[in-house]
Amino acid sequence: MSAGANTDYDYIVIGGGFYGCCLALFLRSISARVLLVEAGPVLMDRASRVNQARVHTGFHYPRSAATAVKSMLLHRRFLADFPEAVVGDFQMLYAIARRRSKVTAKKFHRMFRDMGAPIELAGAGHRVLFDADRIEEVFACREVAFDHRILGRLVGERLTAAGIDVRLSTAVTGLADHRSGVVARLSDGSDVSAGYAFNITYSQINALLAKADLPPARLKHEIAELALITPPPELERLGVTVMDGPFFSAMPYPAEKLYSLTHVRYTPHDSWADNPAARDPYAHLAAYQRESRYAFMRRDAQLYLPCLAGAEYRRSIYEVKTVLIKNEGDDGRPILYHRSPEASRVISVLGGKIDNIYDLFEAVRGSGGAFGALDTGHVFGRVHA
Ligand SMILES: Cc1cc2nc3c(=O)[nH]c(=O)nc-3n(C[C@H](O)[C@H](O)[C@H](O)COP(=O)(O)OP(=O)(O)OC[C@H]3O[C@@H](n4cnc5c(N)ncnc54)[C@H](O)[C@@H]3O)c2cc1C
Repeated sequence: MSAGANTDYDYIVIGGGFYGCCLALFLRSISARVLLVEAGPVLMDRASRVNQARVHTGFHYPRSAATAVKSMLLHRRFLADFPEAVVGDFQMLYAIARRRSKVTAKKFHRMFRDMGAPIELAGAGHRVLFDADRIEEVFACREVAFDHRILGRLVGERLTAAGIDVRLSTAVTGLADHRSGVVARLSDGSDVSAGYAFNITYSQINALLAKADLPPARLKHEIAELALITPPPELERLGVTVMDGPFFSAMPYPAEKLYSLTHVRYTPHDSWADNPAARDPYAHLAAYQRESRYAFMRRDAQLYLPCLAGAEYRRSIYEVKTVLIKNEGDDGRPILYHRSPEASRVISVLGGKIDNIYDLFEAVRGSGGAFGALDTGHVFGRVHA
């Protein structure tokens, strides 16, 4: 595999999740020669589908002020740029546990009130849902969810309108970084050359870097279970998050008109520091014996929110969740922008959460050269090819 000046494409984006799709659209603003390669048969079917669907306002991060403030700012942009995919017809309640919480109700309230976040004490009708011995305080917070199906349809339509080549059911199985360009080996046996490759494969980032003999990023993975439930009538038009420690969340999962139930103690089934040579994240998930922990999740959660006894379990969905090792302690979710060595033509980006997509735009634009002229017109459907 060798890359010369006459490449097939200017940019190959590897990974057709929300981040890869948006990046391909972003790159389209400076080149018509963009290829998006996705291993699966459809776009946005991995972490961009299997997640809690929360558009983070920041309340989730009382231990990472930087992430909380950033979420406050970014979620507003996400709401303005993808309004069709936003579902806000419910009230989110954040409840602070009396014991084992890493934040007190007073501190939580003060932090977000001072930040100008949409928070107030919950009304009596909502407080009564919680066990008063276990819950110190309940706050009514403005937080919304996203519908991954609508988001996927939007970016799919925009990729088509922008005339971007998309290859589905095609994995990148080899990658050569020649410093003047890259050559990707595809699962159909063909080679494709480009000026740059963007590795936007989330939990597979290091697996792909290893194929290119490039240094890995410091990542940690976990197999996460989201239980999908029909909520009890008391929770209709409500979402609940109990903070801040080994607690749980029950909130709308709009794409299936169900709720997800996740629990800090039971949702992660298995976690490990990344080492693709020893354990490929996708292969590990595929081979993993999935035994739902829904019963444990609900048993503990209903101690705090008794009406959960009336929830109806539908099924569980599983995905590998990948975070930066440096954010294990504070729960922060910045993006990873990884280009090592500096002259490498392979650039990897890990999306921490959906609305961090704006950080991706900033990071790539900041790479200098032609990237300085990038704009988001195609991403937000404001330009047509
Ligand atoms: C359990 C869980 C809960 C979460 N909850 C939230 C939440 O509530 N709110 C929030 O904002 N964020 C949440 N996140 C984070 C969010 O889902 C991710 O930040 C986001 O989806 C990352 O998008 P992505 O495109 O980078 O990854 P993905 O959607 O995983 O896309 C990566 C793509 O790369 C493809 N790929 C991999 N290897 C190759 C290869 N070799 N060749 C070609 N293609 C390849 C995959 O098939 C996949 O489609 C959660 C994540 C998880 C896992």
